[in-house]
Amino acid sequence: MAHGLLTIDLGAVVRNWHRLCEIHASGAVAAVVKANAYGLGAAPIATALKEAGCRHFFVATVEEGEALRDVLGEGPMIAVLDGFRARQHPRLTPVLNNLEEIRAHSGPVILHVDSGMSRLGLPVNELEALARDPALLEGIEPLYIMTHLAAAEEPEHPLNAAQIARFNEACLSLPRARRSIANSSGIFLGPRFASDLARPGAALYGINPTPGRPNPMEPVLRLEGQVLQVRDIPAGQTVGYGGSWMATRPSRIATIGLGYADGLPRRLEGRLIGDFRGQPLPLVGRVSMDLMTFDATGLQRMRPGRWVELIGPNTRDVDAMAALCGTIGYEVLTSLGSRFRREYLPV
Ligand SMILES: *Cc1c(COP(=O)(O)O)cnc(C)c1O
Repeated sequence: MAHGLLTIDLGAVVRNWHRLCEIHASGAVAAVVKANAYGLGAAPIATALKEAGCRHFFVATVEEGEALRDVLGEGPMIAVLDGFRARQHPRLTPVLNNLEEIRAHSGPVILHVDSGMSRLGLPVNELEALARDPALLEGIEPLYIMTHLAAAEEPEHPLNAAQIARFNEACLSLPRARRSIANSSGIFLGPRFASDLARPGAALYGINPTPGRPNPMEPVLRLEGQVLQVRDIPAGQTVGYGGSWMATRPSRIATIGLGYADGLPRRLEGRLIGDFRGQPLPLVGRVSMDLMTFDATGLQRMRPGRWVELIGPNTRDVDAMAALCGTIGYEVLTSLGSRFRREYLPV
């Protein structure tokens, strides 16, 4: 029995996708559902987006791609960002990152150009070499030339202008191929970053693609933990590993069945406040692997079996949780782990 509950609002995911389609009106909008849709569940999310009209999906690995194809059936493109092993997977569209992969493949592919991220992708000069050598291109059908922005969430960052200039120049060598540029934040960088296919992930899941400005996306996620035990302790007694928190008054401690194994890091000690029916519930003591302890003093109705919200409408969004954890929303979501029950609010 899971003691963590993730409630995922599929309607909000779909509305976020429609919102991105409005902003990126000059081209199509894919859905990046790698890492199990950032931990929220690739199958239900991709199914809802397919029904909403999404025709392009991106995953990281062939395993993710094959599983998604079984769910979605024939029709939508499923592109694998790591095209390295995609040759034996004709149901998937490989993203090819170097000449060796290109030589090994045939059929529809996406060519990934590295315009300044220095991570994956063909250097610009290799794309040009490819375009000059028809033998290399024989048998492959480039559906898109793609690039990935390294600093799209910082509109003023010089890398954005540098990457788009380098990419546009590289594309001159294959002028007829369609292009795919923006991730979530890239969609908000304006028309120069629009392309035939945007590739948002984070924004679909409610992460703010415009950090420092109001979040244009709807929240998608509620995270709750179930109370396993409630105990009253006298003043002077400590709570948890290391005795790092001491009650300064007679206190009521509520223990919930979530911990750092569920993606709630030890760094939350002294920082996190949960919510129980509108009442603030401070985390006290260390976060354990499977348990967290909250100060529920004065909360008469706190009992085993009750639920405490940590992310959601009464507490905070994913970005605020990320700030408490000293990381980004992406890492919060993908760290949530497999022990949660995931419930889906229908579209
Ligand atoms: C993960 C990823 C995306 C999606 O990025 P978000 O910032 O989540 O929108 C797009 N393109 C590539 C190549 C990626 O690896």
